[in-house]
Amino acid sequence: MSKKNFLSLGLPNGFVDNLTSLGYCEMTAIQAESLPKILAGEDVIAKSKTGSGKTAAFGLGLLASLEVKNFCIQAIVLCPTRELADQVSKEIRRLARSTHNVKVLTLCGGKSIGPQIGSLEHGAHIIVGTPGRIEDHIKKGRLTANRLKVLVLDEADRMLEMGFQPALETIIGSLPQERQTLLFSATYPKEIESMAQKITHKPHLVEVDIDHSDGIIKENLFEVTDDQHRLYVISLLILKHNPNSVVVFCNTKRETQMIADHLKSQGFSTLALHGDLDQKQRDEALVQFDNKSITVIVATDVAARGLDIEALDLVINYQIARDLDVHVHRVGRTGRAGNEGMACTLVSSEEDYKLKLLEQHLGKRLTVDMLPEQMNFDRKPRLPDKVCLKIDGGKKQKLRPGDILGALTADNDIESDAIGKINIFDFSAYVAVNRAVVTKALDKINQGKIKGRQFRAKKL
Ligand code: ADP
Ligand code: MG
Repeated sequence: MSKKNFLSLGLPNGFVDNLTSLGYCEMTAIQAESLPKILAGEDVIAKSKTGSGKTAAFGLGLLASLEVKNFCIQAIVLCPTRELADQVSKEIRRLARSTHNVKVLTLCGGKSIGPQIGSLEHGAHIIVGTPGRIEDHIKKGRLTANRLKVLVLDEADRMLEMGFQPALETIIGSLPQERQTLLFSATYPKEIESMAQKITHKPHLVEVDIDHSDGIIKENLFEVTDDQHRLYVISLLILKHNPNSVVVFCNTKRETQMIADHLKSQGFSTLALHGDLDQKQRDEALVQFDNKSITVIVATDVAARGLDIEALDLVINYQIARDLDVHVHRVGRTGRAGNEGMACTLVSSEEDYKLKLLEQHLGKRLTVDMLPEQMNFDRKPRLPDKVCLKIDGGKKQKLRPGDILGALTADNDIESDAIGKINIFDFSAYVAVNRAVVTKALDKINQGKIKGRQFRAKKL
């Protein structure tokens, strides 16, 4: 049996079949290196790039040691952002499909506290959330984890960058000393090292450096003269590569909005994602990008952390990121887990020094590519395949994805193939449908009933 086969781990029954059904046939490098130690109950500090499969590494670890019958909090996973916490919860639930009745609870800020208190009273096995909100629940005595077995810090570097150190200290101070601690990070600055020393016990350091930029991800550099030229080159690259999903990264909120407005005016299906948006606007942007009804997202680094795009076709860096680790991280967002991807970075002669630093950082020389010529691919911005409809009802109205799918495909005049992702929030739901059936779909919802109730739908 190969070293990378999940069977070699001796996981509980059903785990491997479930992994196979998820398309996880072999362990990724970080999983192969860390899982044997994690499953042996040891503390692990793991460092590897984005997209290397860290979530499943700790997810399988905490699920393998979980005693479902023992209904108490056995694991806490701390994440820097709400979006990441949502992704991690989702992944843990998928990994847990072969075990019955595993209760995962997500606790993040930006959400009202009442329902969370209720859920905590009902209890859970695994808590996933952001440090601020979890600290709050602990301080108010609503969350006690005195039988905790595993603590996970995911993207520990980001949590420290975002100022969560005090919250982390309070949380960790309230947990049993005797526990397994797993710390995951894409980078390993001094601050992490000193924190790791305090909170782990005889940790194993596992480091896997897959250099994305040398593998399936191509990082292309293009020389630009000024900001006007940057905008032109962005349009040109999107037209040339004609991607389903592209993220344009910027260093500031102002640039983000400006570029998004520009691309929109050129006819590209575009949204901006930055810290000035309220939670609802962010959720809507993420949903639309994820369900393929928006092609281009222009984002700052912090805002983009919520994007979970398995096959992001194209990443464009408006400039090299201020922090070179962040830059490498951006590039790593395309081509996740074996998908092909492409990253394009725009540089002007004033940024030569930064380019030199980036070369030093990567330990290799980068060459500047020729700009594509537009006449070779005379295209217009493409419309996304899907259109997103918003329905004015959600979980609180007991709407489930199946209800919406059922309502749309009743009478068979819309095929279920024409329906894309369905996302349900507390008071609203979003469904992506093929462009060709938009009118029919709107009519069905607006004129019909779902679960005996009338709902309003509109095109976003
Ligand atoms: P990281 O946390 O290291 O950035 P993720 O845990 O988000 O990476 O995983 C990146 C992607 O790889 C996800 O889409 C996940 O479903 C996929 N993935 C993880 N493990 C495997 C595996 N063993 N085989 C195939 N795909 C995997
Ligand atoms: Mg991760």
